[in-house]
Amino acid sequence: MVVEPKVRGFICVTAHPEGCKESVRRQIEYAKSQERKESPKKVLVIGCSTGYGLASRISAAYIGGADTLGIMFEKESNGKRTATPGYYNTKAFEEFATKDGLYAKTINGDAFSVEIKNEAIDIIKRDLGKVDMVIYSLAAPRRTMSDGTVYQSVLKTTSCEFTEKSWNVDNDTITKGQIPVATEEETDATVKVMGGEDWMDWIDALSKADVLADNAITVAYSYIGPELTYPVYFKGTIGMAKKHLYESSLRINELHKDKNVKAYVSVNKALVTQASSAIPVVPLYFAILYKVMKEKNIHEGCIEQMSRLYTEKLFNGDVITDATGKIRLDDWELREDVQKEVMDIWERIDEENIRKLADVEGYWEDFYHMFGFKYDNIDYTKDVEIQS
Ligand code: NAD
Repeated sequence: MVVEPKVRGFICVTAHPEGCKESVRRQIEYAKSQERKESPKKVLVIGCSTGYGLASRISAAYIGGADTLGIMFEKESNGKRTATPGYYNTKAFEEFATKDGLYAKTINGDAFSVEIKNEAIDIIKRDLGKVDMVIYSLAAPRRTMSDGTVYQSVLKTTSCEFTEKSWNVDNDTITKGQIPVATEEETDATVKVMGGEDWMDWIDALSKADVLADNAITVAYSYIGPELTYPVYFKGTIGMAKKHLYESSLRINELHKDKNVKAYVSVNKALVTQASSAIPVVPLYFAILYKVMKEKNIHEGCIEQMSRLYTEKLFNGDVITDATGKIRLDDWELREDVQKEVMDIWERIDEENIRKLADVEGYWEDFYHMFGFKYDNIDYTKDVEIQS
C-alpha cells in the first residue's frame, strides 16, 4: 500500500518501511566512515530499535565489528496498519548486518520480564557464548512486575508546579505549559520504570547464567540539560529515575567487581526521539538548541553521538568521564556559549518569530525521519509491502 504520515499530537501512527530502511542505511554509512576501534565483539543492546539504542547497535557493529543481540518492544504490521518504526528499523539492520557478515538477532518482547531475560540468556549461550558489552537504552512508559503490578512513569515536577513557555507542535502556537507536581507514589513509580533496577537485574541475570564475560562493560543513558528544564527533567520525576540509574552504575561496579565489570552512565545530548518529544517544554528548547548548534557546526544526531561515544569516550584509551565517573556526551550542548545563545533566544521567542529564531524545520525533519518519512530519495507515491 501507499503509506503516508498520520501525525497525532507528538507521534506519528504510521511508519514507512523503505524510509526506515533508508534511515538505518544512512546511519550505517556514517558509522562506516568512522575510524574503527578495538572494542567489544559480542554486544547485547536492550532497547535496540530506535533512537540512541539503534545508533548504539549500529556503532557496535560498524565501528567495533561486533555481533549484536537486540531487545525491543515493537508492533508488527497486522496487514492493515503499518508496523512501528522500530520494527522496520530492526528488520533493515538485521538485513544489512547479515549481508556484511555480522551476527544480528533480535528478541521482540518485554525487556522487564524474566521470560525475555531467560530467552536472551539461552540465545547468548547458543550463539555467542558470552557478551562483553551490554548497552541499556530503554525508554518505556510502564513496567509490569512478575506479580502483575504495573508501574507507570510520569513526567512531572517533584517540588512545585512549573510554568514555562511551551511550543504546541501540532498547531505551532506557544502557550504556557503547566507541569504539575507528582505525588510520592508517582515519583517512586517513575524510578521503578526508568531507574536502574532493571539494568541491575539484567546484569545479575547474565552474570549468574555465566554469559557475562570478565571485564565486560555496560552503559546506560541519561540526560541533564540546562537549568531551564531542571523542574521538568533533572529535578523532576524522570531526573529522580536518572539519579537512581547513576547510583545503580555504582552498585553494579561493586556487586560485580570479581568479574571486573565496569558500568557507566553516559549523559547524552537532547535529541528528538519518540521518548523525548512527549516531554512538555522540551521541544521548544530542542528547536532552539538545534538552531544554535547547527550554526556553530556542532549539531549531532543519535548516530554522531554514539559514534563519538565509541571513538572518543569509551574506546580511545582510558574511558573519559567527569569527576563523578559519568561520560559526558552533552559536553557541546552545555558549552557556555551555546547555552548563553539558547537562553537569549528563549527570552525573545514567540509565535511571530519562532521560525526565524528556532530550527522548526530541523525539528520536523528529525521527527518525520524517525518514522521513515521525508527522505528525498524515497518515492512515497509507490506501493510498499508493509508486512515482512
Ligand atoms: P526511544 O523511544 O527512541 O527508544 C526506546 C527503546 O526502548 C526502543 O528500542 C523500544 O523498543 C525499547 N523499549 C521500550 N519499552 C520496552 C520494553 N518494555 N521492553 C523492551 N524494549 C523496550 O528512546 P531514546 O530517546 O533513544 O531513549 C533511550 C535512552 O536514552 C533513555 O534512557 C533516555 O532517557 C536516554 N536519553 C535520551 C535523550 C533524548 O533526548 N532523546 C537524551 C539523553 C538520554
